[in-house]
Amino acid sequence: PSPASVSRALYERATQFLPGGNTRTTVYMKPYPIYVARGAGSRIWDVDGDERIDCINNFTAQIHGHAHPVINEAVRKQLELGTCFGLPTEAEIDLAELLCGRVRSVQAMRFTNSGTEAVMMAMKAARAFTGRPKIAKVEGAYHGSYDYAEVSLDPSPANWGADPSSIPYAQGTPQTVLQDVVVLPFNNPEAARRLVLAHRDTLAAIVVDPMPNRAGLVPASAEYIQALRAVADEIGALLIFDEVISFRLGHGGAQPLWGVEADLTTFGKIIGGGFPVGAVGGRRDVMAVFDPSGGKPVLPHGGTFSANPVSMRAGIAALQLLDHAAFTRLAAMGDRLRAGINAAFARHGVEGQAVGMGSLLKVHLTAREVVDYRTALPHPAEAHALATFMLGLLNRGVFAASYGLMALSTPMTEADIDHVIGAADEAIGDVARSR
Ligand code: PMP
Repeated sequence: PSPASVSRALYERATQFLPGGNTRTTVYMKPYPIYVARGAGSRIWDVDGDERIDCINNFTAQIHGHAHPVINEAVRKQLELGTCFGLPTEAEIDLAELLCGRVRSVQAMRFTNSGTEAVMMAMKAARAFTGRPKIAKVEGAYHGSYDYAEVSLDPSPANWGADPSSIPYAQGTPQTVLQDVVVLPFNNPEAARRLVLAHRDTLAAIVVDPMPNRAGLVPASAEYIQALRAVADEIGALLIFDEVISFRLGHGGAQPLWGVEADLTTFGKIIGGGFPVGAVGGRRDVMAVFDPSGGKPVLPHGGTFSANPVSMRAGIAALQLLDHAAFTRLAAMGDRLRAGINAAFARHGVEGQAVGMGSLLKVHLTAREVVDYRTALPHPAEAHALATFMLGLLNRGVFAASYGLMALSTPMTEADIDHVIGAADEAIGDVARSR
């Protein structure tokens, strides 16, 4: 913290108008957040003039980094034509066609303004289609801020029974919400199956993120995903894949990688090319709950800015840039970064690991095997070591999420990866010296 910091001055002003100076919990930082001035490619510059490699890329959304010229050109063209209307535009058809072409299980889709809304609409669609009230979700998995999606996002060890239970995340969560959410352990197919079967007549859907960030960013086992698919079919519930983040794992998203087809899939982040977006898509018969052509739909859904042509055009440009070669290159950079960080942990004799897949990476300051939310939750000494590590990165020109998440971008170079590995090596040295 520097007394002359422009960020600090901005934060002091912010505290007058925003609660705690903040309007987005996820970007809060102590003693004050770093305010960003601009970004270009793999870099960001803060208001104090410091340059860093951006390894969080707006929490995984900016897969092409910042101010990509092709995306900017697409947006500029749309700006001249108008930004949003009370009528549909061709852009929404173009993006829907593109996504339906990439994800086999998605035959029809609907756009929203955020991943939160996409998950909300998917859950509501499942309820409307099945006529059942309950949703099953994984303990510790984040799916945005719909009440039902937030249940058991961060239960403390004091609440850990043998089976997960429905624990409120936010104060004021109604009991009825908790009653309608069944919480499953991650990567435990037998327990998940047993808990789902206990609600077989009332469960509308099982929601799963195949590599849930907050539950450790470790991939679901193939057995786990297969068990969820099978038990959903057995009881007539829908399987919803939350691909708001995992869609950046491959050209067709996560489903081909796990060899599964979901009934509904939620999207967000990268499909908007840096503009607000979300989408839900899936089986044509399920998506028909939204169809207004025969009168009032079973599930009406609007949204003043849903499918606005700026987000649509930016998303189309971003996805067109993401060819197979782009995913291969991102995954190779991710593998090299994981290997480099893991080698640094070994060299310094510090207990830690870099997990994840493709362009997504998370650092845990523990040697214990991470398989779910409970094994991922840092013990107090690990949380302290993680804070030291993250500050070490920040001070060496690397910006990542405070809880150890990194998401790579296509403008990153091999030299950028070398820089991040070098910074991580030195930051792990800080951890070694701090104990
Ligand atoms: N689902 C997942 C898996 C997410 O990671 C997020 C956001 N990080 C959301 C849903 C919610 O998306 P949004 O922030 O766009 O509302």
